[in-house]
Amino acid sequence: MNILVLNCGSSSLKYQLINMDDEKVLAKGLCERIGINGSLLTHQKIGEEKFTIKQPMPTHNEAVKLVFDVLVDKDHGVIKSSDEIDAIGHRVLHGGTKFTESIVVDEKVKETIKECFDLGPLHNPANLMGIVACEKNVPGKKNVAVFDTTFGMGMEEKAFLYAIPYEYYEKYGIRRYGFHGTSHKYVSGEAIKFSKLDPKNAKVIVCHLGNGASISASIGGRCVDTSMGLTPLEGLIMGTRSGDIDPSIIQYICNKENKSVDEVLNILNKKSGILGLSNGLSSDFRDIENAMNEGNHRAKVAMDAYIHVIVKYIGGYIAIMNGVDAICFTAGVGENDKYTRKVICDNFTYIGLKLDDKLNDIRGEFREISASDSKVKVLLLPTNEELAIARETLRLM
Ligand code: AMP
Repeated sequence: MNILVLNCGSSSLKYQLINMDDEKVLAKGLCERIGINGSLLTHQKIGEEKFTIKQPMPTHNEAVKLVFDVLVDKDHGVIKSSDEIDAIGHRVLHGGTKFTESIVVDEKVKETIKECFDLGPLHNPANLMGIVACEKNVPGKKNVAVFDTTFGMGMEEKAFLYAIPYEYYEKYGIRRYGFHGTSHKYVSGEAIKFSKLDPKNAKVIVCHLGNGASISASIGGRCVDTSMGLTPLEGLIMGTRSGDIDPSIIQYICNKENKSVDEVLNILNKKSGILGLSNGLSSDFRDIENAMNEGNHRAKVAMDAYIHVIVKYIGGYIAIMNGVDAICFTAGVGENDKYTRKVICDNFTYIGLKLDDKLNDIRGEFREISASDSKVKVLLLPTNEELAIARETLRLM
């Protein structure tokens, strides 16, 4: 049983073909610069070298067609025909209040994804284009939409409602949704299995620390709180996003700098976070850490502030759950940066959490990094959103 997973961005398309009998990836790749001059596809049959095709891809339709062509190519392909693809799983960013679960796509589902364009203006249109392109290029296949927001739909009202007039929730669906949901669900689920925690009651915190970053708390796999909100701007300090700020700052900057709200939001999304805090040095955590180690004060403050907010969230989540069984680190920084993991964990010795420095000295490998007598398990657990989407697709077949 082979499942194709597609993740369409506004000018890109990532794909993986996964054999679900053993959950092994057969081939993967990336189409870039869709709709822009210089479109190219990088494809890799697993176990072989990557290769690149430069070919115009004016829309996602040509990109999807090229992906199907390359998957059946006699030299670089891994299947004989598209008949060997049993279903297609699509990452869809925003499901609004309408979708609380992944779903098999039909006309009504496509309409509803369209209704959520306002909530995910950069991603949802591209996600829908990917679905439509698959329907056109390989008609008759089951397409499944897996939303980034459905994990957050498990929250109770006290966690997902903002303290603004209730009518805005009723009229416009303004609430906390949370993002990276597929990752949070996958990582918390794997943590429960790996650490043999009680699947109904395990209290798990997942720190998804990449360029975009979010954190979630779940009990028995059900999300009780998560840091991102109506959009991915809320919560932790990120590569270029501010995370939590006093909302009045927006009006204040608008007035002082004669800017529109849209311009300021663009600054909060693209020029803030550690990039802003480091006075424009970099949005890449490696650069910030290197500069910090060379004595750059702004880089040190950026790193300290980043960790400070993560610690505040973890502490808050432990409090609302009245405990925690496992804390998991995932995504670019979480998987690769032992310094960040160490400094965060050193703030939780008061609850009996003990990191094993030797075990923590590792990158990108699934392993428990807490000491054997730690009261809380700490796991380095690489996320795998593609596999999670493929599993959801399989479940709905
Ligand atoms: P992601 O969005 O999950 O791809 O994560 C990208 C982020 O991970 C970038 O900001 C990188 O700087 C960061 N990253 C990757 N490797 C390391 C590392 N060894 N130390 C610190 N940050 C890293």
